[in-house]
Amino acid sequence: MADIIQLLPDHVANQIAAGEVVQRPASVAKELLENSIDAGAKTIKLIVKDAGKTLIQVIDNGKGMTATDARLSFERHATSKIRSAQDLFSLNTKGFRGEALASIAAIAHVELKTKQEQDELGTLIEIEGSEIKNQEVTVTPTGTSLCVKHLFFNIPARRNFLKSNNVELRHIVDEFHRVALAHPDIEFLMYHNGSESFNLPKSNYRQRVVHIFGHKTNEKLVPVEEATEVLKISGFVGKPEFAKRTRTEQFFFVNNRFIKSPYLNHSINSAFEGLMKDGSHPTYFLNLTVDPKSIDINIHPTKTEIKFDDEHTLYAILRSAVKHSLGQFNIAPVLDFDRDRNLDTPYNFENKRVSTPTVEVDRSFNPFQAEKIEIRSNRLSSSYKKEPTSQWESLYVGLESKGTKTENDFSEVQFESQPEAPSLFDDDKQLETKQTTYQLHNKYIISTIKSGMMILDQHRAHQRVLYEGFLKHLTVKEAVSQQLLFPLRLEFSSTEMEILQNLKEDLEHTGFVFSVFKDIIIEITGVPINVPESEVSIILEQLISDVEQEVPDSNFSATDLLAKSMSKSLAIKTGQSISRLEQEHLVNSLFACKEPTVSPTNKVTFITMSVDDFDKKFI
Ligand code: ADP
Ligand code: MG
Repeated sequence: MADIIQLLPDHVANQIAAGEVVQRPASVAKELLENSIDAGAKTIKLIVKDAGKTLIQVIDNGKGMTATDARLSFERHATSKIRSAQDLFSLNTKGFRGEALASIAAIAHVELKTKQEQDELGTLIEIEGSEIKNQEVTVTPTGTSLCVKHLFFNIPARRNFLKSNNVELRHIVDEFHRVALAHPDIEFLMYHNGSESFNLPKSNYRQRVVHIFGHKTNEKLVPVEEATEVLKISGFVGKPEFAKRTRTEQFFFVNNRFIKSPYLNHSINSAFEGLMKDGSHPTYFLNLTVDPKSIDINIHPTKTEIKFDDEHTLYAILRSAVKHSLGQFNIAPVLDFDRDRNLDTPYNFENKRVSTPTVEVDRSFNPFQAEKIEIRSNRLSSSYKKEPTSQWESLYVGLESKGTKTENDFSEVQFESQPEAPSLFDDDKQLETKQTTYQLHNKYIISTIKSGMMILDQHRAHQRVLYEGFLKHLTVKEAVSQQLLFPLRLEFSSTEMEILQNLKEDLEHTGFVFSVFKDIIIEITGVPINVPESEVSIILEQLISDVEQEVPDSNFSATDLLAKSMSKSLAIKTGQSISRLEQEHLVNSLFACKEPTVSPTNKVTFITMSVDDFDKKFI
């Protein structure tokens, strides 16, 4: 038989990629603005007509392109920003995929004018649906002007999908705000249908916020500053009395990139707990700086979601920093300084690493002597995690009937395991059961198996378990709810309500019970079993943001999205320590799943290493 596989022609591949990158005019505005920032522009102008449906143009005074680069910039995966896969881990630029211009040019009429400082003349290129219509030398100022007309001219379905001008313009303004807030040192201007909408001179961060949101904002901002080993925070939160009914003034930037994170949002809400009226949302403009190596942004082409290595710690630091600021500025009348000791961990980070834990065997110590056990357990729950770990492991020696060779090897390598000592001593029987799971860096669960060992990513594995559970409830349509003592009242914007309305039935099938679902109010009287009430708002927010990010196509399944989204919100986070029992339960539940090997988003959930693999390494 003849071979039947063919490579897609470039313009088709570009159109497919465009579906991912360009959802609406606002996505074009965002990509162009970010390119101008990457080009080192000091002034950036955004010109829009008919909410971007007729025209989106960005003019910058950045470094421009040579004629060859100008031509190349429209090729897919053409980028000047990374050279190898390695560079992905130390990204300092906004773009890196080299997909935006190729995608935009595949579905619109594009005119590029660009010139570099040292050149007399610049380059003009016109492209329509990936086809070069014209390239010539032209007179143009230093920098780049990119003009995008007739978006989706060759994909009528997508064009029809666009919302009213008001809605589309709102999206463009949102993107403009996000980019402008992340870069107060750059001058930004925006025009819509010929009139100036924003004129933001170069300024400091506070001034930038005030220029965008009005001079009244100034008095309500409380500075937040915090620098720890793993995270730097700077920016502002709004005083509680100015909290809004909508979430329009909530901004997180991670390494100057706007992100949405219902989880981190929750951490701020919890810092404001007790200070705000129900149904209102705190204002915040916060810049987080983390080691680029500790985040993964290559997760979605629109790049508003980031995966952190250690979300749990970020949550804790953020919450305590905001609380601290509110307290310092006398906004929180009584502060609870009796905080969770886990919060201190990041501040000890450095010390922790420097001092290698020493193994001291207290020979006079008798673990079965009541008083002493208490002293021990207290010490164990202190913030020095590693030291006691090795201590109790050394206690173990001799008490436990000698395990297999492999098992002993494990404790010698000192896999970090749970400081769950109290339960160890409480329950004599546990001393006899062999430990078969260990938690490593609050991220991986190591489990011994016959052939060697297995390493699970706790967050992904748990997502898989929850996902299959939700899918089952959603298809069988008979989920179990738990009744809330008091109805939970939540308020959303009308766009958000529209999204939730579409998912209402599915939500009910997972176990949600709504008593009110009207205008902008939702009242919940029942939630799915095992869903804590405090997580409900995170789940719904995450769901809304997932739907917003979803590219509508024929494969779109609301049910699947709901199950994915909920499992993501509820899964054990990276950075969270879990007890041995929970570890074992997770391992067992994962292998009871239909597809244990991958997470709902198709990421590997576990790997195995056999004793043979180790033997090879020990040559
Ligand atoms: P990416 O930004 O991911 O590299 P793009 O498709 O957005 O991919 O852009 C492709 C390349 O075109 C960029 O890497 C950059 O070299 C060049 N480019 C795009 N816009 C500009 C601009 N405004 N000024 C200078 N160079 C630009
Ligand atoms: Mg780009």
